[in-house]
Amino acid sequence: QAGRELLSDSDVGRTIARMAHQIIEKTALDSGDPTVARVVLIGIPTRGTTLAHRLAGRIEEFSGVRPAIGSLDITLYRDDLRSKPHRPLERTSVPEGGIEDALVVLVDDVLFSGRTVRSALDGLRDLGRPRAVQLAVLIDRGHRELPIRADYVGKNVPTARTEDISVLLREHDGRDGVYLRQE
Ligand code: 5GP
Ligand code: MG
Repeated sequence: QAGRELLSDSDVGRTIARMAHQIIEKTALDSGDPTVARVVLIGIPTRGTTLAHRLAGRIEEFSGVRPAIGSLDITLYRDDLRSKPHRPLERTSVPEGGIEDALVVLVDDVLFSGRTVRSALDGLRDLGRPRAVQLAVLIDRGHRELPIRADYVGKNVPTARTEDISVLLREHDGRDGVYLRQE
């Protein structure tokens, strides 16, 4: 059962396009100003990485500038997941040119407690020292347990803890869509 539709297939496309415009505006990545930081998108696997690729495509389309893309598997940095069998490390890929002095935009599908993002910040530290880090999420479902907020939000969805957001993306699921499910 899919649950209640929060974003339709075309809503997801529009939302990603809007976030791409917001990233261009806030980072001034198309300003041509040499003092403006290079923008790098780093996705958190699996769907955050897919979203990072989608955003990069839209940003290039709208601005003519294609940001470098990387991916950061945070499994090894989550103290609460470390004891479980970990996934292979190739899910981390350093963006071309690295992250030194770059403006890193972390990308994930759903923001909940904030613990994943906190771990991603730990993980970034091993890759270099960015000038600044921002966060882009398709869905903010609330229930933060840490002082973390997103700079770019596709949709804010107040949820109960017992509910679950289902994010479908063409690359994985054959179509786009976001649903609210009662667990
Ligand atoms: P947090 O670490 O902020 O508690 O949870 C965020 C991470 O868990 C994200 O990587 C996200 O993919 C996943 N997550 C948390 N809640 C949900 C949810 O309701 N639906 C989906 N699809 N993923 C979630
Ligand atoms: Mg995730």
